[in-house]
Amino acid sequence: MDAWNGPGHLDRCEHQRPDAGWLSACWADPAALLLSVDAAGRLDIGAGPAVAGRRPGGAFDEQRHYLLGLSDGRPVFVQSAEFAGGAGLRELLPVLGEADRELVVAAVALVQWHRTLPHCGLCGAATVVTLGGMVRHCPACGRDRFPRSDPAIIVAVVDADDRLLLGHQAVWAPGRLSILAGFVTAGESLEQAVHREVGEETGLPLSAVRYVASQPWPFPRSLMLGFVARAAGTDIQVDGVEIEWARWFARDELIAAVEAGEVSLPGEASIAHRLIGDWQAATLVSPE
Ligand SMILES: [Zn+2]
Repeated sequence: MDAWNGPGHLDRCEHQRPDAGWLSACWADPAALLLSVDAAGRLDIGAGPAVAGRRPGGAFDEQRHYLLGLSDGRPVFVQSAEFAGGAGLRELLPVLGEADRELVVAAVALVQWHRTLPHCGLCGAATVVTLGGMVRHCPACGRDRFPRSDPAIIVAVVDADDRLLLGHQAVWAPGRLSILAGFVTAGESLEQAVHREVGEETGLPLSAVRYVASQPWPFPRSLMLGFVARAAGTDIQVDGVEIEWARWFARDELIAAVEAGEVSLPGEASIAHRLIGDWQAATLVSPE
């Protein structure tokens, strides 16, 4: 998780990408790696201590082979492909090192983005890949599209007694709980999104909101922006649609509920796991 809070390991090579000769040389580099991502967002690597992709073979095809960049100096490409087996990000992220975590998330994000844009959203013409996979260009109207993320907020809401608010979504397995989250809508600031989502889902007004950390989550292309917020009250009115029920937990209550198997919490790969863990460790400083 902390991999996301400093400078990245992946050099996306913005300045070299326009050079077709440089892209081909990357493909031919003996250290180059080619990852594959299937339609379900799984990678063709087993869950292990390091990314062990295969060497690129055959001719470089810019329309299919997207350059993620240089990871510790090694060119890494990704392609869309179907294969048996493989592993998803939820399995991989807890076991990979920081540089490899960044690679697999970027790989899934880039392939999924390319899948969504075979045609131009303005004129409908077929788009072509340029800049080693960082642009889809429309030859008919000239428009370029770039791989972007959709901002979503996720917020650990605490009360005056430092209890944590956890909610259960109707679509989840019984007992599964997490902190609240939702997409930022057009024309809205992150802070406004935090206030709105918490209000819509639980009816709670907030007295203070503070940004903590972010994490990319390419399902389909979210950037999760983690916050901690202080509730101005404790009276919960769930919307009953997205959130079925929600309640406040003191630290010992949550530990007991997890140990008794009454509730389950988000997996290690998620920023929700980190925010809840920080709250449990009393290192999540809530705003006054
Ligand atoms: Zn177009």
